[in-house]
Amino acid sequence: MLRILIVMSDTGGGHRASAQALQAAFAARFPGRFQVEIVDLWTDYTPWPVNQMPRVYSPIVARASWLWKLLWLLFERERALSTVLRLVYPLCRKDMARALQAHRPHLIISVHPLMQQLFLWLLEREGPPTPFVTVVTDLASFHHGWFHPRAQRCFVASETAAAAARRHGLQPAQIRLLGLPVRPDFAQTLPDRATARAGLGLTDGTFIALLAGGGEGMGPVAAIAHALARRLAATGTDAQLIVICGRNDRLRRALQRSEWPLPVQVHGFVDNMQAWMTAADCIITKAGPGTIAEALICGLPILLSGFIPGQEEGNVPFVVENGVGAYCESPEGIADIVGAWAGGGELERMAACARELGRPHAASDIVDEIVELMEG
Ligand code: UDP
Repeated sequence: MLRILIVMSDTGGGHRASAQALQAAFAARFPGRFQVEIVDLWTDYTPWPVNQMPRVYSPIVARASWLWKLLWLLFERERALSTVLRLVYPLCRKDMARALQAHRPHLIISVHPLMQQLFLWLLEREGPPTPFVTVVTDLASFHHGWFHPRAQRCFVASETAAAAARRHGLQPAQIRLLGLPVRPDFAQTLPDRATARAGLGLTDGTFIALLAGGGEGMGPVAAIAHALARRLAATGTDAQLIVICGRNDRLRRALQRSEWPLPVQVHGFVDNMQAWMTAADCIITKAGPGTIAEALICGLPILLSGFIPGQEEGNVPFVVENGVGAYCESPEGIADIVGAWAGGGELERMAACARELGRPHAASDIVDEIVELMEG
């Protein structure tokens, strides 16, 4: 059986979600032919303090986004990143080589912007080079670390990403625009809204707003939930609010203790995002690429409530200019917009635009091309 290693890191929920999407697509398209393993390279195969990076990422992004923006701007300079990687590489080389020895992959897939250079250095050193491909899990803003001319293929999800790859020296033949890989339940024929609602025990015939903050439940989710609930209740809209807190347990506990003026469900990390998205009328979320790609497939209008500086900035114009949603940071402003959506016919137009942009089969299309490359 051929072994494939997907290298990622749990900085946010999107990299793992895309890695799992590819793993599932290999199993579905080529049952029994590939053993696909996912590793969090930073956590499991780098020494302290480098291995703390995924743990400090969320608190920095959530509580000191100015610092994250500063780091992003600094490392946008190619010289700065390559200097740091040159310093870090000798510290990590031995541990990263353990990943190769443990998994002995026939091909490596990176779904993280900081894996390209380090792994390609390692592969050069370790004898006959293992094929290496990149799957870019960002939609419209890109760190240059994603793009390395020595990756055999670079799979991207938008024209902007393809242009960025070309600017960073990749040849057109290396770049493949196939969409952002999302989990297989988004690739199936989606149930209609009434069926999805029945499956979740939700009342049909009401307006349902879904509120999320990525895998980590980031941003002012609580303030938005309260403003939204007040507004929908005040306007007499027959509405329900679903809040998905992801791994943010403190947020989940606080919201579960709250009193609400309308029916509200509060959940922690859910494994059935497709069901919630299919059941809802709109989603309010930070500008995470994974959530946006999934919402597009479900034909779900998107109200962006914020973005992580750097990697999510470009997703705002992507959503607004493509006519699939709006952007607003203030909880009261968000409540106004959703209140207007609940009462008007705008949602249908945005839902149709979203469906046009959705790429439900990206994961299997990418996997087919990777297998073609391996069979070469
Ligand atoms: N997600 C999930 N369950 C949750 C919360 C989030 O499966 O309870 C998934 C979501 O569907 C998406 C990913 O986590 O696939 C979040 O990725 P995104 O790029 O939107 O944001 P990130 O968390 O990486 O900042």
